[in-house]
Amino acid sequence: MKVIVFDLDDTLYDEFEFVKSGFHAVASFLAENFNINETDSFQWMWESLQTQGRGLIFDDLLREYRLYTKKLAKRCLTIYRTHKPKLTLPEESVRCLESLKQYPLYVVTDGNKVVQHNKLQALGLYKIMKHCFVTHRYGIHHAKPSPYCFLNIAKREKVSTNEIVYIGDNPMKDFVGIKPLGFKTIRIMTGQHREKKVTTDYDADYTIQSLNELIHIINTI
Ligand SMILES: [Mg+2]
Repeated sequence: MKVIVFDLDDTLYDEFEFVKSGFHAVASFLAENFNINETDSFQWMWESLQTQGRGLIFDDLLREYRLYTKKLAKRCLTIYRTHKPKLTLPEESVRCLESLKQYPLYVVTDGNKVVQHNKLQALGLYKIMKHCFVTHRYGIHHAKPSPYCFLNIAKREKVSTNEIVYIGDNPMKDFVGIKPLGFKTIRIMTGQHREKKVTTDYDADYTIQSLNELIHIINTI
C-alpha cells in the first residue's frame, strides 16, 4: 500500500460525541434565552435520540417546552450545525495514525461542509492528514459512493488505484463505488452500521473490529 485514506464519522471517532456536543450547545442556548434547565433539555434530546432516532428532535423539544416556532427550530438547527464541537481523537485513532505516519494519509468524508470542517478542526486532523476531502465541496453528486475524490487522490499521489486503501464503516456507500476501480477497502465494524449485512459488491475486501487491527492488515495487503 502507498496511500491510506480514512472515512471520518464512526471510523476515526464516534459520531455520537459530535451529536452530544451539539445537543449541549442547543441546551445552553435555550438555558440562556428561555431559562430552561440545561441538564433537563439535554437529557430530553439524548433520550429522544435513542428512542425516536434523528429527524425532528429540535421541533419536538420546543413543543415539549411550549416554545415551538418554525423560526426557533431553525435557529436550534443552525446552532447545532455551526457550534464549535468539543471533540478529542480517541487514543486508539491517535496510536493508529502515528503508526502509519510514513504513508500519505487522507480523509474522505461526506456531510455538511461547515459541520465536517468543524469536526476535522476539533479533532486536530488537519495537522495529521496530508489533505481532508469534504466531498460536498465538490458538489453533492461527488459524495460517496462517487469515486471522484478518491481518483483525485490517485492523481495527486501519482499512484494506481490498487495502491490506495480506504477504511470506512458504512457498507451502503463507502466501498461500492471505488471497489470496481481497483481501490482496496477495509470495513471497520463500529457505529450504527456495524450489524448491517450487505452483498459482496457493497462490502469491503477486509474487515476489522477496531483500528488496533489496521496496521497488521495493511502490512499484509
Ligand atoms: Mg462513517
